[in-house]
Amino acid sequence: MSTSAKSIAPAVVAQNVRHDLLIDGQRVPALSGRYFDTLNPASGAQIAQVAEADAQDVDIAVRSSRAALEGDWGQMRASERGMLMMKFADAIRSAQDELIDLESLDSGKPVAAIRRQDLPAVLDTLVYYAGMADKINGQVIPTRNDALTYTVREPVGVVGAIVPWNFPLMIGMWKIAPALACGCTVVLKPAEITPLTALRLGELALEAGIPGGVLNVVPGFGKTAGQALVDHPDVDKVTFTGSPTVGRQILRSAAGNLKRVTLELGGKSANIIFPDADLDAASRAAAAGIFFNSGQVCSAGSRILVHQSVYDEVVERVAARARAIRVGDPQDAATGMGPLISQVQMQRVLDYIEVGRREGARLVTGGARHGERGYFVTPTVFAGVAPQMRISQEEIFGPVAAMIPFADEEDALRIANGTVYSLAAGVWTADIARAHRFTRRLKAGTVWVNTFGPTDVRLPWGGSRDSGFGREHGEMAIENFTEPKVVWINTGR
Ligand code: NAD
Repeated sequence: MSTSAKSIAPAVVAQNVRHDLLIDGQRVPALSGRYFDTLNPASGAQIAQVAEADAQDVDIAVRSSRAALEGDWGQMRASERGMLMMKFADAIRSAQDELIDLESLDSGKPVAAIRRQDLPAVLDTLVYYAGMADKINGQVIPTRNDALTYTVREPVGVVGAIVPWNFPLMIGMWKIAPALACGCTVVLKPAEITPLTALRLGELALEAGIPGGVLNVVPGFGKTAGQALVDHPDVDKVTFTGSPTVGRQILRSAAGNLKRVTLELGGKSANIIFPDADLDAASRAAAAGIFFNSGQVCSAGSRILVHQSVYDEVVERVAARARAIRVGDPQDAATGMGPLISQVQMQRVLDYIEVGRREGARLVTGGARHGERGYFVTPTVFAGVAPQMRISQEEIFGPVAAMIPFADEEDALRIANGTVYSLAAGVWTADIARAHRFTRRLKAGTVWVNTFGPTDVRLPWGGSRDSGFGREHGEMAIENFTEPKVVWINTGR
């Protein structure tokens, strides 16, 4: 069973073929010869074995990406780079059914959600940055009469992209697309739990004509492959999405050669509902805000703050929505919520539910494992949650809503801003002045008013404090992947 798959279509996955690394345009086994299992979270069954990169393989991948940067890719006209990225988008579009199935199989995400949300976002991101490839301009900045002074933006170099398992395709593309638009090359380290679609993306880039080495994919574990990428002296930039603990570790390691780093970390986002809001819309969005992707979303609205005058009513509405969610097989198009990503994550969420009970919060609905196969947890709502409880402070990363009553605006702001995170927040009100007061005073990288959760690649995305720093998306991402250079030409007078 040592055949390497050329393509990792689900049919091939079903035969349990081994999947090798993608380095320099070739599928190659890890030098150690080791493979690790990737499991289907809906059943716990093994779906494939994947080559396990370690420091030696990462070194080869980084060298290959350096060579690509200094070779064809680095010499290519920006417009041509953009065209190749458009072809990459075409290749993804042609392979979308396969990608959706593969992503669902590997991550447990419902196919309907991937088709509606993830895949369109992947394409939107790629096409947006493809169009930007030849619009990365410098500035002519007049200084003196005897000089022509201007700036250009050059690619930052070899990028190490480390992504989590909750949106493998989408977050992968958030990093790949702006890096390629800027002329960088990328070594992508997918999460060890969800390596399959990253490998397929790498193949599709090659099929589109993007030269080998421009996008290398090295599945492996964080402590080995991930750490090696962050430690590597020839990696110029690390773009990371994941947990604050690993984010801190990455920052320390990046000090070695002073790599540039952007960190998109966790959240404990507050969704604040005032009595003058459309309570039906607010409750619907609040439930979607925490139960979407089984709550495994960095910007999940995991704290639902409700004014005490409508608290009981909103709790009941959110709980009713939770009970109505169809939990089950992610491959079934009618499924609303799939499993958690792993046994470990399921146990972590169940432990937090126990913590909530012990802390004295009232379990309104859910709170248990769903079924006996796979890693499902029922949509869970806790009421009577106090702001200092652990379920109100710590990121659970599961389908657990902490519903917290508040008395007035000051109270709501104090609670909303009272965690270590600053990623996103929502406010529901019909009072436009209050909406503006809250957007000003909420500590968050994104504030939603009378909605919760939408993102768009045109808008900067990221947070501060334990949610990390730097922004992905939009024109801001161009700064992440370019280095400005000043040119001073002595023209004489
Ligand atoms: P994680 O930090 O455990 O792992 C993320 C990635 O880092 C994986 O690829 C992992 O292999 C790698 N890694 C682990 N240790 C490493 C090390 N020492 N050096 C280099 N790489 C290492 O996070 P996770 O459990 O996969 O993802 C969940 C977390 O991601 C949550 O905290 C969530 O909030 C966060 N997240 C944030 C955003 C955002 O945009 N802010 C989006 C999605 C997820």
